[in-house]
Amino acid sequence: MNMGKRPTENNKTCPICHIQGESVGKVTVEHLVTDPNRVAVVGDHYRICINV
Ligand SMILES: [Zn+2]
Repeated sequence: MNMGKRPTENNKTCPICHIQGESVGKVTVEHLVTDPNRVAVVGDHYRICINV
C-alpha cells in the first residue's frame, strides 16, 4: 500500500479562496462554533476566512 502523504504547504491561506484570513484566538473560534463542535477546538493558532 502506497499512500504518500501530500506535503501540507503551510496552511496559512484559505484552501478555497487562497487568501490569508484574519488571525483569531481559540476563544473566538469557540464562540463561532456550535456547542458540539467546541470540543474540537484545540490549539490557538486559528485563522478565519472573512470571504463571505
Ligand atoms: Zn475562504
